[in-house]
Amino acid sequence: MKKFLALLLALVMVFALAACGESTTEPSTAPTTEATTEPSAEASTEPSDNAEAADFTTVEEGKLIMSTNAAFPPYETTDDTGAVIGIDPEIAALIAEKLGLELVIDDVDFDSALLAVQQGKADMVMAGVTVNEDRLAVMDFTTSYATGVQVVIVPEDSDITDMDGLEGKLIGCQRGTTGYIYASDTPENGGYGEENVVAYDNGITAVEALKNGQVDAVIIDNGPAKEFVEANPGLKILETPWVEEEYAIGLSKADSADALNEAINNALQELIDDGTVQSILDKYITAE
Ligand code: GLN
Repeated sequence: MKKFLALLLALVMVFALAACGESTTEPSTAPTTEATTEPSAEASTEPSDNAEAADFTTVEEGKLIMSTNAAFPPYETTDDTGAVIGIDPEIAALIAEKLGLELVIDDVDFDSALLAVQQGKADMVMAGVTVNEDRLAVMDFTTSYATGVQVVIVPEDSDITDMDGLEGKLIGCQRGTTGYIYASDTPENGGYGEENVVAYDNGITAVEALKNGQVDAVIIDNGPAKEFVEANPGLKILETPWVEEEYAIGLSKADSADALNEAINNALQELIDDGTVQSILDKYITAE
Protein backbone atom coordinates (compact mmCIF):
# COMPACT_ATOMS: atom_id res chain seq x y z
CA MET A 1 0.00 0.00 0.00
CA LYS A 2 2.71 2.45 0.97
CA LYS A 3 4.77 1.48 -2.04
CA PHE A 4 1.78 2.00 -4.23
CA LEU A 5 1.15 5.42 -2.70
CA ALA A 6 4.75 6.46 -3.10
CA LEU A 7 4.70 5.37 -6.73
CA LEU A 8 1.45 7.17 -7.35
CA LEU A 9 2.88 10.33 -5.85
CA ALA A 10 5.97 10.02 -7.97
CA LEU A 11 3.78 9.78 -11.06
CA VAL A 12 1.66 12.73 -10.02
CA MET A 13 4.81 14.70 -9.47
CA VAL A 14 6.27 13.89 -12.85
CA PHE A 15 3.04 15.04 -14.48
CA ALA A 16 2.86 18.21 -12.42
CA LEU A 17 6.38 19.14 -13.33
CA ALA A 18 6.04 18.13 -16.94
CA ALA A 19 3.10 20.49 -17.10
CA CYS A 20 4.88 23.46 -15.56
CA GLY A 21 8.16 22.97 -17.39
CA GLU A 22 6.64 22.15 -20.75
CA SER A 23 8.08 24.92 -22.84
CA THR A 24 11.52 24.93 -21.31
CA THR A 25 12.66 21.41 -20.51
CA GLU A 26 14.21 20.52 -23.86
CA PRO A 27 17.75 19.37 -23.31
CA SER A 28 20.01 22.06 -24.68
CA THR A 29 22.45 20.78 -27.25
CA ALA A 30 24.93 23.57 -26.65
CA PRO A 31 27.19 22.99 -23.68
CA THR A 32 26.54 25.51 -20.93
CA THR A 33 29.30 28.03 -20.60
CA GLU A 34 30.83 27.61 -17.19
CA ALA A 35 33.18 30.55 -17.53
CA THR A 36 30.48 33.17 -17.94
CA THR A 37 28.41 32.40 -14.87
CA GLU A 38 30.64 33.73 -12.10
CA PRO A 39 28.59 34.80 -9.13
CA SER A 40 28.29 38.55 -8.89
CA ALA A 41 26.03 40.88 -6.99
CA GLU A 42 24.17 42.06 -10.04
CA ALA A 43 23.99 38.67 -11.72
CA SER A 44 20.35 38.09 -10.87
CA THR A 45 19.25 41.28 -12.59
CA GLU A 46 21.50 40.94 -15.60
CA PRO A 47 20.27 38.88 -18.56
CA SER A 48 22.38 35.74 -18.78
CA ASP A 49 22.68 32.83 -21.17
CA ASN A 50 19.87 31.26 -19.16
CA ALA A 51 16.90 33.31 -20.36
CA GLU A 52 14.62 32.30 -17.45
CA ALA A 53 17.19 33.57 -14.99
CA ALA A 54 16.63 37.20 -15.91
CA ASP A 55 13.80 38.22 -13.63
CA PHE A 56 13.80 35.97 -10.59
CA THR A 57 14.27 37.20 -7.06
CA THR A 58 16.05 35.37 -4.26
CA VAL A 59 15.83 35.68 -0.47
CA GLU A 60 19.11 37.61 -0.52
CA GLU A 61 20.20 39.34 -3.69
CA GLY A 62 22.92 37.52 -5.57
CA LYS A 63 22.70 34.48 -3.29
CA LEU A 64 21.07 31.09 -3.52
CA ILE A 65 20.34 30.00 0.05
CA MET A 66 20.03 26.25 0.49
CA SER A 67 18.87 24.88 3.82
CA THR A 68 19.95 21.36 4.75
CA ASN A 69 20.74 19.00 7.61
CA ALA A 70 24.33 17.85 7.17
CA ALA A 71 23.95 14.56 9.03
CA PHE A 72 22.70 12.53 6.09
CA PRO A 73 25.70 11.09 4.22
CA PRO A 74 26.30 10.67 1.31
CA TYR A 75 23.74 13.39 0.48
CA GLU A 76 25.19 15.85 2.99
CA THR A 77 27.70 15.69 5.78
CA THR A 78 30.51 17.90 7.08
CA ASP A 79 34.22 17.50 6.44
CA ASP A 80 37.04 18.11 8.96
CA THR A 81 36.82 21.84 8.40
CA GLY A 82 33.06 21.94 9.02
CA ALA A 83 32.25 22.53 5.35
CA VAL A 84 29.08 20.83 4.10
CA ILE A 85 29.94 18.25 1.42
CA GLY A 86 28.03 15.55 -0.47
CA ILE A 87 25.67 14.91 -3.36
CA ASP A 88 23.24 17.76 -2.58
CA PRO A 89 25.82 20.54 -2.12
CA GLU A 90 27.55 19.45 -5.35
CA ILE A 91 24.33 19.62 -7.35
CA ALA A 92 23.39 22.89 -5.61
CA ALA A 93 26.74 24.48 -6.50
CA LEU A 94 26.19 23.69 -10.18
CA ILE A 95 22.64 25.07 -10.07
CA ALA A 96 23.90 28.28 -8.40
CA GLU A 97 26.59 28.57 -11.06
CA LYS A 98 24.03 28.21 -13.85
CA LEU A 99 21.90 30.93 -12.25
CA GLY A 100 24.85 33.24 -11.63
CA LEU A 101 24.32 33.14 -7.87
CA GLU A 102 26.56 32.51 -4.89
CA LEU A 103 25.57 29.32 -3.04
CA VAL A 104 25.05 29.76 0.70
CA ILE A 105 24.40 26.60 2.75
CA ASP A 106 22.45 26.83 5.98
CA ASP A 107 22.92 23.68 8.10
CA VAL A 108 20.02 23.23 10.55
CA ASP A 109 17.82 20.39 11.90
CA PHE A 110 15.89 18.52 9.21
CA ASP A 111 12.47 19.87 10.20
CA SER A 112 13.88 23.42 10.36
CA ALA A 113 15.41 22.94 6.90
CA LEU A 114 11.94 22.18 5.50
CA LEU A 115 10.45 25.14 7.37
CA ALA A 116 13.13 27.59 6.20
CA VAL A 117 11.81 27.40 2.65
CA GLN A 118 8.19 27.68 3.74
CA GLN A 119 9.01 30.75 5.85
CA GLY A 120 10.98 32.54 3.14
CA LYS A 121 14.34 32.16 4.91
CA ALA A 122 15.87 29.90 2.24
CA ASP A 123 15.42 29.64 -1.52
CA MET A 124 15.50 25.85 -1.55
CA VAL A 125 15.92 22.84 0.69
CA MET A 126 18.17 19.98 -0.39
CA ALA A 127 18.43 17.32 2.30
CA GLY A 128 17.54 14.06 0.58
CA VAL A 129 13.98 15.36 0.85
CA THR A 130 11.28 12.87 -0.08
CA VAL A 131 8.31 14.20 -2.00
CA ASN A 132 5.10 13.30 -0.22
CA GLU A 133 1.52 14.48 -0.14
CA ASP A 134 1.78 16.49 3.09
CA ARG A 135 4.86 18.33 1.89
CA LEU A 136 3.29 19.01 -1.52
CA ALA A 137 0.57 20.88 0.37
CA VAL A 138 3.09 23.36 1.79
CA MET A 139 6.01 23.33 -0.66
CA ASP A 140 6.74 23.07 -4.35
CA PHE A 141 9.21 20.51 -5.64
CA THR A 142 11.51 20.22 -8.62
CA THR A 143 11.68 17.13 -10.71
CA SER A 144 13.14 14.16 -8.82
CA TYR A 145 16.93 13.70 -8.97
CA ALA A 146 17.38 10.52 -6.89
CA THR A 147 15.50 7.68 -5.25
CA GLY A 148 15.67 6.40 -1.71
CA VAL A 149 14.35 3.38 0.14
CA GLN A 150 13.49 3.19 3.82
CA VAL A 151 15.48 0.38 5.43
CA VAL A 152 15.92 -1.08 8.91
CA ILE A 153 19.22 -1.13 10.81
CA VAL A 154 19.56 -3.64 13.65
CA PRO A 155 22.44 -5.03 15.73
CA GLU A 156 24.10 -7.98 13.99
CA ASP A 157 22.82 -10.44 16.62
CA SER A 158 19.23 -9.08 16.62
CA ASP A 159 16.27 -11.47 16.53
CA ILE A 160 14.49 -9.04 14.19
CA THR A 161 14.70 -10.44 10.66
CA ASP A 162 11.85 -8.71 8.81
CA MET A 163 9.30 -5.90 9.10
CA ASP A 164 6.92 -8.06 11.16
CA GLY A 165 9.68 -8.60 13.67
CA LEU A 166 9.52 -4.89 14.53
CA GLU A 167 6.11 -5.25 16.17
CA GLY A 168 6.34 -4.40 19.86
CA LYS A 169 9.97 -3.30 19.52
CA LEU A 170 11.33 0.20 20.07
CA ILE A 171 12.24 1.93 16.80
CA GLY A 172 14.50 4.98 16.47
CA CYS A 173 13.98 7.50 13.67
CA GLN A 174 14.99 11.00 12.76
CA ARG A 175 12.44 13.65 13.72
CA GLY A 176 10.28 14.97 10.89
CA THR A 177 11.36 12.38 8.32
CA THR A 178 9.21 10.08 6.25
CA GLY A 179 10.75 7.14 8.14
CA TYR A 180 9.33 8.60 11.36
CA ILE A 181 5.97 9.37 9.75
CA TYR A 182 5.53 5.79 8.42
CA ALA A 183 6.87 4.02 11.51
CA SER A 184 4.75 6.03 13.96
CA ASP A 185 1.56 5.46 11.98
CA THR A 186 -1.05 3.10 13.40
CA PRO A 187 -0.68 -0.65 12.78
CA GLU A 188 -3.85 -0.51 10.61
CA ASN A 189 -1.96 1.87 8.32
CA GLY A 190 1.16 -0.28 8.23
CA GLY A 191 3.03 1.51 11.03
CA TYR A 192 4.10 0.39 14.50
CA GLY A 193 2.32 2.97 16.68
CA GLU A 194 3.67 6.27 17.98
CA GLU A 195 4.43 4.80 21.41
CA ASN A 196 6.95 2.44 19.80
CA VAL A 197 8.93 5.08 17.93
CA VAL A 198 11.53 7.44 19.39
CA ALA A 199 12.40 10.61 17.43
CA TYR A 200 16.03 11.74 17.45
CA ASP A 201 17.50 15.03 16.22
CA ASN A 202 19.26 13.26 13.37
CA GLY A 203 20.20 9.88 11.98
CA ILE A 204 23.58 9.83 13.69
CA THR A 205 22.06 10.20 17.17
CA ALA A 206 19.45 7.54 16.33
CA VAL A 207 22.25 5.13 15.40
CA GLU A 208 24.13 6.01 18.62
CA ALA A 209 20.97 5.10 20.57
CA LEU A 210 20.80 1.77 18.73
CA LYS A 211 24.43 1.02 19.62
CA ASN A 212 23.70 1.85 23.26
CA GLY A 213 20.69 -0.48 23.32
CA GLN A 214 18.16 2.33 23.85
CA VAL A 215 16.21 1.25 20.75
CA ASP A 216 15.95 -2.12 18.99
CA ALA A 217 16.11 -0.83 15.41
CA VAL A 218 16.51 2.33 13.37
CA ILE A 219 14.43 3.09 10.28
CA ILE A 220 16.16 5.45 7.88
CA ASP A 221 16.91 5.99 4.18
CA ASN A 222 19.23 3.42 2.56
CA GLY A 223 21.95 5.93 1.59
CA PRO A 224 22.84 7.08 5.10
CA ALA A 225 22.02 3.59 6.49
CA LYS A 226 24.84 2.09 4.43
CA GLU A 227 27.30 4.75 5.59
CA PHE A 228 26.29 4.40 9.26
CA VAL A 229 26.62 0.60 9.17
CA GLU A 230 30.03 0.84 7.50
CA ALA A 231 31.19 3.28 10.18
CA ASN A 232 29.75 1.26 13.10
CA PRO A 233 30.80 -2.41 13.26
CA GLY A 234 28.20 -4.67 14.87
CA LEU A 235 25.23 -3.27 12.94
CA LYS A 236 23.53 -4.57 9.79
CA ILE A 237 20.76 -3.58 7.38
CA LEU A 238 17.81 -5.98 7.03
CA GLU A 239 17.31 -7.45 3.57
CA THR A 240 13.71 -6.21 3.48
CA PRO A 241 13.55 -2.75 1.92
CA TRP A 242 10.41 -0.89 3.01
CA VAL A 243 8.99 2.20 1.29
CA GLU A 244 10.50 3.52 -1.96
CA GLU A 245 10.72 7.28 -2.36
CA GLU A 246 11.73 10.08 -4.73
CA TYR A 247 14.08 12.87 -3.62
CA ALA A 248 13.61 16.37 -5.01
CA ILE A 249 14.53 19.95 -4.19
CA GLY A 250 11.91 21.63 -1.97
CA LEU A 251 10.88 25.13 -3.04
CA SER A 252 8.69 27.95 -1.79
CA LYS A 253 5.03 27.93 -2.76
CA ALA A 254 4.88 31.75 -2.78
CA ASP A 255 3.97 33.29 -6.15
CA SER A 256 7.01 35.54 -5.84
CA ALA A 257 9.20 32.42 -6.01
CA ASP A 258 7.70 31.10 -9.27
CA ALA A 259 10.38 32.48 -11.58
CA LEU A 260 13.23 31.31 -9.34
CA ASN A 261 11.62 27.89 -8.93
CA GLU A 262 11.38 27.50 -12.66
CA ALA A 263 15.00 28.56 -13.13
CA ILE A 264 16.14 26.07 -10.44
CA ASN A 265 14.07 23.29 -11.99
CA ASN A 266 15.40 24.04 -15.47
CA ALA A 267 18.99 24.10 -14.23
CA LEU A 268 18.47 20.76 -12.44
CA GLN A 269 16.83 19.28 -15.54
CA GLU A 270 19.86 20.28 -17.64
CA LEU A 271 22.16 18.61 -15.10
CA ILE A 272 20.03 15.46 -15.24
CA ASP A 273 19.82 15.46 -19.05
CA ASP A 274 23.57 15.87 -19.58
CA GLY A 275 24.39 13.06 -17.11
CA THR A 276 25.99 15.32 -14.48
CA VAL A 277 23.60 14.31 -11.69
CA GLN A 278 24.13 10.61 -12.41
CA SER A 279 27.91 11.03 -12.32
CA ILE A 280 27.67 12.83 -8.96
CA LEU A 281 25.43 10.04 -7.59
CA ASP A 282 27.85 7.40 -8.92
CA LYS A 283 30.78 9.17 -7.31
CA TYR A 284 29.21 8.97 -3.83
CA ILE A 285 27.18 5.78 -4.04
CA THR A 286 29.17 2.69 -4.87
CA ALA A 287 27.03 0.36 -6.93
CA GLU A 288 26.78 -3.22 -5.73
N1 GLN B 1 14.13 11.21 2.88
C1 GLN B 1 13.70 11.42 4.21
C2 GLN B 1 12.68 12.51 4.31
O1 GLN B 1 12.56 13.30 3.44
C3 GLN B 1 14.85 11.71 5.16
C4 GLN B 1 15.60 12.95 4.83
C5 GLN B 1 16.64 13.32 5.87
O2 GLN B 1 16.67 12.77 6.96
N2 GLN B 1 17.51 14.22 5.55
O3 GLN B 1 11.97 12.61 5.27
